[in-house]
Amino acid sequence: MQQVKTNICIIGAGPAGTSTSIFLSKLGIEHLIVDAATFPRDKVCGDGLDMKSIRMLNHIDPTIIPEEIAKDINFNPSWGMRSISPKGKNRDFYYTPEAGKEFQCPFFVTKRFHFDDFLIKKIDTKTADFRQGTKVKSIVKEGDNWKLIAANSNGDLEITCKLLVGADGDHSTLLRYLGDRKIDRNHYWSTVRQYWKNVEGMHEKNLLEFYFPKGKPMGYFWIFPLANGEANVGYGITSQIAADRNYNVRNTFKEFISSDPAIAHRFKNAEPIGEVEGWGIPIASLRRKVVGDGWLLVGDAASMVSPNSGEGIGTGMMTGYIAAKFIAKGLKAGNFTESTMGNYSREVYKRMENEIKSYNFYLRHAGLSEYLVNTFLGDNFFWQLQFKRSMKGWLKTAYEKEVEVNLD
Ligand SMILES: Cc1cc2nc3c(=O)[nH]c(=O)nc-3n(C[C@H](O)[C@H](O)[C@H](O)COP(=O)(O)OP(=O)(O)OC[C@H]3O[C@@H](n4cnc5c(N)ncnc54)[C@H](O)[C@@H]3O)c2cc1C
Repeated sequence: MQQVKTNICIIGAGPAGTSTSIFLSKLGIEHLIVDAATFPRDKVCGDGLDMKSIRMLNHIDPTIIPEEIAKDINFNPSWGMRSISPKGKNRDFYYTPEAGKEFQCPFFVTKRFHFDDFLIKKIDTKTADFRQGTKVKSIVKEGDNWKLIAANSNGDLEITCKLLVGADGDHSTLLRYLGDRKIDRNHYWSTVRQYWKNVEGMHEKNLLEFYFPKGKPMGYFWIFPLANGEANVGYGITSQIAADRNYNVRNTFKEFISSDPAIAHRFKNAEPIGEVEGWGIPIASLRRKVVGDGWLLVGDAASMVSPNSGEGIGTGMMTGYIAAKFIAKGLKAGNFTESTMGNYSREVYKRMENEIKSYNFYLRHAGLSEYLVNTFLGDNFFWQLQFKRSMKGWLKTAYEKEVEVNLD
């Protein structure tokens, strides 16, 4: 059997694992990173890069957006959002950049097929041993060491390491080993996605569109514009609400497209590309334990998706950034114990706290949440004004402000 010995092994090279690797390399720390898939590969997602993703891309290298992404046809710049009320009324919120900052776009839409492949190319192979097509099959802990068996095209591979980083998404092998791969439907979204071509009525500024259907709180239907006249179309909702109201997310999605008066006319001349694909979203309000002796979780494996928006690319990348700093701390201390790295938990959760609180409030008052969303997002001029005012500050943070991590 092939054998690899390393201090640090990252399982998974989605945005969270890849970011952990990139930021470890920036600190000069050698490690192994494995992924079951061979890139490029698809991942069921809305394909929207939010401002947290943009902030993290700027942490990787501030020239990436102006020099690479802005010139790459697979990245569609989006200048704002459209909310659609149950009555079918559109409110468009968009931003016009200041002179000299034309590249400072608030959002991009890019298929994960392209984005994840773009990101893995930033892995620094001088310090990272990156093995694609390598699936971790089993994990055991023997004393202070982890022993993993992974399979690749050459057969089985035995990996021995001291620190294991679980970046292997919602179905994480490390979570299963820890006995914590439980689903709490109140803190999990059921979602579906389908690619479409020629959806009508898209805005020239490529707005991200959110439709808040009546009678279905704690969720939304989206249309995110991709390059080439394609769109990522999907629907997601808190799983418990769907279960309590006894409806099937996939069928509900199809009904919006075929017969919902606010939406269906946009799809009359559109064509689906591929099937409706389903996947779950583990949201941060679950408050999963994210660090222990010899292990650390990032991204979806850590249940680190924004509970209000369902966006997890940026939060996943940010957990990778923070994790790399705590791993460096462990390396310096000569141990990867929870007592050395435990404040990783505080540092990641403090960035999610406000969202977790508001999500839990809306969950307890689902009817009120529906009223607020429909009144304020669907149909309110002041929200539009507020959006324009806030956008300047949000962009400054995304493009210029360093994430501060307190290791003590
Ligand atoms: C329908 C839908 C829409 C979404 N829309 C958005 C959106 O618009 N914007 C946004 O920011 N977020 C969105 N999200 C959330 C986002 O997709 C995730 O939060 C994000 O992918 C998390 O990144 P990750 O790196 O933690 O995990 P993943 O992207 O899932 O990557 C995990 C990696 O681990 C690998 N892996 C798994 N098991 C093993 C194993 N045993 N051995 C080796 N490798 C393994 C996989 O191959 C994969 O490459 C959406 C999610 C869904 C389901």
